[in-house]
Amino acid sequence: MSASQRMPVVFFGHGSPMIALETNDTTRAWAAIAEAIPRPKAILCVSAHWLTKGVGVTAMDKPRTIHDFGAFPQALFDVQYPAPGAPDLAERVRQILAPTRVILDQQAWGLDHGTWSVLVKAYPKADVPVVQLSMDVDLSPQGHFDLGRRLAPLRDEGVLIIASGNIVHNLPKMDWSAQNGPAFDWAARFNDAMRTAIAEDRPDAVVEFASLGRDASLSVPSPDHFWPLLYILGARAPGEAASFPVDHIEYGSLSMTSVVIGADPPVARAA
Ligand code: ZN
Repeated sequence: MSASQRMPVVFFGHGSPMIALETNDTTRAWAAIAEAIPRPKAILCVSAHWLTKGVGVTAMDKPRTIHDFGAFPQALFDVQYPAPGAPDLAERVRQILAPTRVILDQQAWGLDHGTWSVLVKAYPKADVPVVQLSMDVDLSPQGHFDLGRRLAPLRDEGVLIIASGNIVHNLPKMDWSAQNGPAFDWAARFNDAMRTAIAEDRPDAVVEFASLGRDASLSVPSPDHFWPLLYILGARAPGEAASFPVDHIEYGSLSMTSVVIGADPPVARAA
């Protein structure tokens, strides 16, 4: 592929898995993101929901749909996302991340809801092969960012690198009566600070998010949902433009902000 065909990278701010059963402005925006970019050969997804000691990558032909949550309606457990795997991409990821050791997973994992609750809207036909990459719990933010940087060459090989998490993700603080806001002050300030840093291509400010003190510790009480963003920023080429096709906070403390890098801003169609 030529450089002009370099694939974009996308960070999806994911919500409750129930969004898989809904159609709303957010799911329409996710569909528009997929429509606005070239059809990928395969998708590599970093989900907030696969945390491991060391790094793993799904390497099976047919990754199973994992319903990694508790009390939800049966209809959600019935959702399947039968996209094929891509063992060749898994092997390529193993090579490209060396000397970091990468385990080729044949059965421990599959596609968790961080991945499928988004892809069921963005690629509803499930006809693009999908591989998941786990996040090593022992890595620093800089370590996750550096792995993202090493994945960047995949963008020139027709691979769409996506990540699924949240810039602000504080479940205990969520106000279940306030889906449409307002956001807590600290959540709004932190989300704005991160969005501005991304728009201005200042990744260090995102890697060093903890320097924002209390706003950061409330917005990122545990790092799992924030780390996926670092892979996307690591895979960004210098100067590439970013757009934010979804940009709001639900329930006071759940950021749905999504980031598209290296593509024209997608425009969602009316239903
Ligand atoms: Zn989640």
